[in-house]
Amino acid sequence: MPPAFTHVFLDAGNTLVHLDFHRVSDILFKEFGFRGDPAAMEGAEPKARFHVDWDRANMEEDRERWRTYFWTILSAAGWQDRARVPDALRALFAQNTTFTLWSRPARAAAETLVQLRDLGYSLAVISNSDGSVEAMLERLGLKQHLEYVIDSKIVGIEKPDRRIFDMALTRSGAVPARSLYVGDMFHIDVIGARGAGMEAVLLDPAGLHGHRNCSRVREIADLPGHVLSEQKRAGKSTP
Ligand SMILES: [Mg+2]
Repeated sequence: MPPAFTHVFLDAGNTLVHLDFHRVSDILFKEFGFRGDPAAMEGAEPKARFHVDWDRANMEEDRERWRTYFWTILSAAGWQDRARVPDALRALFAQNTTFTLWSRPARAAAETLVQLRDLGYSLAVISNSDGSVEAMLERLGLKQHLEYVIDSKIVGIEKPDRRIFDMALTRSGAVPARSLYVGDMFHIDVIGARGAGMEAVLLDPAGLHGHRNCSRVREIADLPGHVLSEQKRAGKSTP
């Protein structure tokens, strides 16, 4: 029987906030004269994410993951030279920070957090980030709905290492089996959260993860409905 959840923990990048493809496009135009269609990039992003997630075992370095991720996105918008993807990444990440690139809130992100809180769930973010995710969530008006934000750069541990999930469980005084984690990468978010004894939901916007043995939703706005149906299945009311 599924548990009655009391806590919902969320990923940030590609869960609550997305890449700002207009900004990506502007940076690449300024640096390389390349004008990529933001809509084409956005359309390719779920596939890029899927490639990196799927091939995680074969990509030992983050640098390689970013190259694959952005090659999938940029080539969909007409970028032709795979060998120059590292140059594009240097230009994009010269300003990175999550602040500059992952700065577009997911559809109905704030409303969804309010809905979850109104249902009685405690909310917090656990993010693999660069130290700037909390400020960015604040700037987008999302932080006010969260108890706290854990940033891997600040705590020195990255998902899928269970210790970052344990840290959140301890801080919230939450029981793992009554905690739900939501993120967009199977091998980082789902495997990591399960390692700490939590339930997990995978964000799967393009329906590419049907073969996975895990709960999936298309977007964050689907989460309250998903949690409620899980509660119902357990014959439990909300917290
Ligand atoms: Mg993510």
